[in-house]
Amino acid sequence: MTRLHVLGSGSKGNAFALEHQGEVLLIDVGFSAKEIRRRAQVTGLPLDAVVGIALTHEHGDHTGGVRVLTKHIEAPIITSPGTWHKVKDRLPHCHHRPAGLASMVEVGPFVIESCLISHDALEPLAFAIRLPDGIMLGLAYDVGRPTAAMRYLLRDATALVIEANHDDVLLRMSDYPATVRQRIAGSAGHLSNRATAELVAELWHPALATVVLAHLSESCNTPGQARGTVEPVIRAAGFSGTLHVALQDIPLDPIPLATPHPARKTRRSDARTSPPLVLDL
Ligand SMILES: [Zn+2]
Ligand SMILES: [Zn+2]
Repeated sequence: MTRLHVLGSGSKGNAFALEHQGEVLLIDVGFSAKEIRRRAQVTGLPLDAVVGIALTHEHGDHTGGVRVLTKHIEAPIITSPGTWHKVKDRLPHCHHRPAGLASMVEVGPFVIESCLISHDALEPLAFAIRLPDGIMLGLAYDVGRPTAAMRYLLRDATALVIEANHDDVLLRMSDYPATVRQRIAGSAGHLSNRATAELVAELWHPALATVVLAHLSESCNTPGQARGTVEPVIRAAGFSGTLHVALQDIPLDPIPLATPHPARKTRRSDARTSPPLVLDL
């Protein structure tokens, strides 16, 4: 059984976990260790089964609780060399497994691929996490602009955690100073609901069964606004799976991830036997 735990997501903290047959991969630790434990208890996530902790980037809403949590959980930190450089002084007791475009990391049953994304951190990553049963979780948030590398990484995800940060109009009308608005909407900032809708529609394939909208802005978005913008576009593209919206303050019920039907595993089932794509980055 594979379950996705959405412990919480937003500008005040992000934490997810993938649970597969009794082993757990934590993805970001953006809440205090105490709060992570409390939320894990709510969703039934066995923190004593964590085999790895993947960090997307160093910002506090993604790493705030990692120092204290790793005092009690012995697991490697899977992240880019740049992010590790930013957090390693806080984590002298941890082992680093370098992740990046050329580094595939295996920990327990989880095979983790990653690529650099466009965001104002040192070396931020999106992740693609594969499991032996064909499930692939793609996770990308804090994304200024989707790149060719990111689209390629996420191309055959059967489940997607994807940022839907702000509504364009609410951002324009917000009280934020112009420089902050520009940063949020800029190429090193965050994806709007509209941009997310277009991206997911583009990434859609028949085996994509689960989409979780994440990292919603508290002041420039609402769960209803995000869903209302994204859902019609991705349904029109063919998506017939379940759409969830991650919340800041409350974890979601664990989301079971279904093993893709072999015949529908990927729309690009021939891609694995093709020569690797050379990306023009
Ligand atoms: Zn960030
Ligand atoms: Zn963030």
